[in-house]
Amino acid sequence: MIIDGKKEAEIIRNEIKKEISVLKMKNNKIPSLAVILIGDYVPSQIYVKNKEKNAKEVGINSQIIKYPKTVSEKEVLNKIEELNKNINMSGILVQLPLPNQISKEKIINAIHPSKDVDGFHPVNVGNLSSGYESIIPCTPLGCLLLIKKIEPNLSGKHAVIIGRSNLNGKPMAQLLLKENCTVTIVHSKTNNLQSECLKADILVAAAGVPNLVKKDWIKKDVIVIDVGINKVGEKIIGDVNFDELKDKAKAITPVPGGVGPMTIACLLKNTLKCFKAHLT
Ligand code: NAD
Repeated sequence: MIIDGKKEAEIIRNEIKKEISVLKMKNNKIPSLAVILIGDYVPSQIYVKNKEKNAKEVGINSQIIKYPKTVSEKEVLNKIEELNKNINMSGILVQLPLPNQISKEKIINAIHPSKDVDGFHPVNVGNLSSGYESIIPCTPLGCLLLIKKIEPNLSGKHAVIIGRSNLNGKPMAQLLLKENCTVTIVHSKTNNLQSECLKADILVAAAGVPNLVKKDWIKKDVIVIDVGINKVGEKIIGDVNFDELKDKAKAITPVPGGVGPMTIACLLKNTLKCFKAHLT
């Protein structure tokens, strides 16, 4: 089975749209999202434009704040502070990567945890790892929703995650632990990747290595979630050799059209969550 991330994302967007229109009638307010874009890195420009388009479609007021790549760290921090104080701003996102003169850590720490739609602030990371209510990073949240669509009860399943980044691997592991999975994280220094992957009932690949996962790396009937986005020539491919795995896996996400659309849908979900938290 091929998991249709586009369709699932559309379902989520429609739910969000409905909820926002109800909240608008009740409170005469809509969620708003500030996206800070620094420099002229083309993929970031595409991502931000996409986020803005999707936000507007569901009724979120999205604002892109652009800076040249030479902008000072202080100027961006001042803007974040201003947005933190703005009671009409529900969520703040700073598009990564950042130019060298700007510390990613300082930027992430500056965003108020209640407006941190990416879920990267240490308060949200800590809450997630403690099993408390938190804002969950968009890509792992999207992956979990896709996995649960296939298998609602994950208790006792063995999940293997390739990659240990703060963005993907680590929060994915926390989410699957919360679902009572047995979780293994493998990474670039893992000795025998194939034998670890062969234990998986659920395999999430987030390494950024094209076609890393081969057919003989999985058992039959595994759920395979491919987070990777790799440009090879003119094509975008994942971390999983899709053609080899698609008939062996129980369910598999394609690239593109799998996790990518879910990431943006979950950003909208997080923006709505922040908005609702500020309403009360
Ligand atoms: P990252 O570079 O921060 O982390 C990659 C991780 O993979 C590291 O922990 C590293 O140890 C591990 N790794 C690297 N090579 C490996 C190998 N050969 N074997 C095993 N592990 C290996 O990357 P990231 O930000 O987590 O992103 C990972 C991939 O996901 C990238 O392709 C990125 O473009 C993609 N991505 C997709 C979405 C989406 O919405 N689909 C969102 C974010 C990132």
